[in-house]
Amino acid sequence: MAPDRQNKVHYVDTGRREEIIGEKSASTMKVLVISDIHANLAALETVLKDAQSRGYDEIWCLGDVVGYGPDPNGCIERLAALEPQLTVRLAGNHDYAVLGKEINVEDFNPEAKKAVLWTREQLTTETRAYLDALSGEAVRRGEFMLVHGSPRDSVWEYVLSPRIARENFEELTDFRCCLVGHTHVPTMFSYRVDRRDGQPFGRCLQHRLTPSPPDFALAFDQARLIINPGSVGQPRDHDPRASYALLDTETRLWTYVRVEYPIEETQHRMLAAGLPERLINRLSFGW
Ligand code: ZN
Repeated sequence: MAPDRQNKVHYVDTGRREEIIGEKSASTMKVLVISDIHANLAALETVLKDAQSRGYDEIWCLGDVVGYGPDPNGCIERLAALEPQLTVRLAGNHDYAVLGKEINVEDFNPEAKKAVLWTREQLTTETRAYLDALSGEAVRRGEFMLVHGSPRDSVWEYVLSPRIARENFEELTDFRCCLVGHTHVPTMFSYRVDRRDGQPFGRCLQHRLTPSPPDFALAFDQARLIINPGSVGQPRDHDPRASYALLDTETRLWTYVRVEYPIEETQHRMLAAGLPERLINRLSFGW
């Protein structure tokens, strides 16, 4: 991990962690939360193995199974083999783009576009059908709302700043805790209404959560939350290790995990596939 990593990521107001971290209690129902695999099978296998050693009952996948990486079919087949434990299968914008759904591929940057077009050619009838069956709508599991993008735009919007998070909290009031992917950055936003000069005042904060604390309870009875597990296959927080989370839905315990995987293996396969050099290089740095 680069020592100056903390300086490269802009986080807002990191000092108010106490209001979003509650008491821990005994474990019950554990969910493996993964997102943005991006056809990186070496990263996916490593995450699954690591998570297995910690134990989980269900898997929720927040989308972008393909795009960028060299193993679209391998990743889809691996996910398909995880059923029935895999109970949430969301579609991401890259999954849509590969299928030609709701987007003109010209809207992607040149490297992403090249990867989308390459991926399109690799898919088999079966793997294409699997992608086509992923949900582009928000899914509810118990107390949690799950989307790829944002609460108000389930596939496309990036929740990157407190401003965008605030707009989502204020526009959509029917969720307490929403899990999102899409930005490839493990982070959390909290929102709660205080009073200022006698008037209700909504306060939205972005919290730095990695590398510590690795686990904490999501106290969304005190503040509404939007939380991102980070990306399995293409992390963008200047830490190249694969990112995922474990969630105990009963105790609300959330655990961030980072795990090293054989990056060169994925890079060699990308090189052999003729995928863009920039996409190959960025995996070494996590941007
Ligand atoms: Zn993505």
